[in-house]
Amino acid sequence: MKITKVDIFRWETGVNAPVGCRIYTDEGIYGDGEAALAYGKGSHSALGALQDLAPLIIGMDPLENEVIWYKLFEKSFWAQNGGPAIYGGISAIDMALWDIKGKALGVPVYVLLGGKKNSRLRTYASQLQMNWGPWRDEKGQFCITHMRTPEDYAQAGRKAVAEGYTALKYDFIQIDKTAPYASFTRFGGIQSTYLLGMVEERLAAVREAVGPDVDILMEWHGDLDAVSAEQIAKVVEPYKPYCFEEPSLPFPGLTKEIREHISCPVAHGERLYNRWQVAPFLEDHSVQLLQPDLGTCGGITEGKKIADMASTYEVGIQCHICASNFSIAPALQLEAAIPNFVIHEHHVILLQEETRRMALYDYQPVKGYYEIPDLPGLGNEWSKYALSNAKTKITVTG
Ligand code: MG
Repeated sequence: MKITKVDIFRWETGVNAPVGCRIYTDEGIYGDGEAALAYGKGSHSALGALQDLAPLIIGMDPLENEVIWYKLFEKSFWAQNGGPAIYGGISAIDMALWDIKGKALGVPVYVLLGGKKNSRLRTYASQLQMNWGPWRDEKGQFCITHMRTPEDYAQAGRKAVAEGYTALKYDFIQIDKTAPYASFTRFGGIQSTYLLGMVEERLAAVREAVGPDVDILMEWHGDLDAVSAEQIAKVVEPYKPYCFEEPSLPFPGLTKEIREHISCPVAHGERLYNRWQVAPFLEDHSVQLLQPDLGTCGGITEGKKIADMASTYEVGIQCHICASNFSIAPALQLEAAIPNFVIHEHHVILLQEETRRMALYDYQPVKGYYEIPDLPGLGNEWSKYALSNAKTKITVTG
């Protein structure tokens, strides 16, 4: 089998800007992949990375995914020390190759990864500071509700728990009580009593609303540091948070220091781009839940290596997912196969119509659990809507 063509897409959905590809072969089988730079600023760079990398794989055998992975790693030069754009491109290509391999052999990707170790994936509702539900009203008007009062936070949690979720994730400092964004002291160490109080009253309201048995993950988006993480950890400890996610930007020494001064597990990894970048956090035992994004860590090939490395340090895995709803499929395949799967992320953006129409199948959890698709390959592909509504489409044939 030979790769004959790669189509590269960039979309502007209204809520994010996904980048993806479709790889064609001379046997009529195609595979789809996604680079997970759909939010923040960077999707054009992922598009550019795919444009640079795609010519390297024309004429190659798509079943030789490791051979192709190392070719992209070596020829790009830049991939040899991480980086989201170049790894976004590698990731999208790698996912599509696994999709082709599964379709060629007539099996889901999880079979190729060793089998369905986990048949149902416990799932948490993610980023409830942006509410839990559609961001448009009945008339289709954009009405994203930023949670401000403690009751707002409690209400979003009650909604998710009523749907069957037993775990919720919030960023309690992203949105201020009145201003558009919170007034925390970024990179500045000591936080104000005002901010510490705001975090506590919001968390207390959620705990009161959902009861003692629901897990509450605390997301910090890298906005704290050693001093403020310790301050906040003391305030929230009585409410038994499940973990601190990205309490700082991912620097090994800093993360280690934070872990030594707080009493709950640390989650990290959505901004780490390959196994070498992950290694220091495993070796110093500063991270307990690793969150690789298969759309930026190097795809399923690299994600499996990272998961296996983590298992030797008794570190669990939760794939980070926050691109289009296509990106759910590769995560489900990997999480089904690994022994150290902990929990699956379902981001509120994946409840929005703008993302739900991007993939052929709109996989959503049921009562807080995901079933694993049994279709050959990844179990999903770009929808007709997505294929005909790309803002940019580039075809590479050589
Ligand atoms: Mg995060």
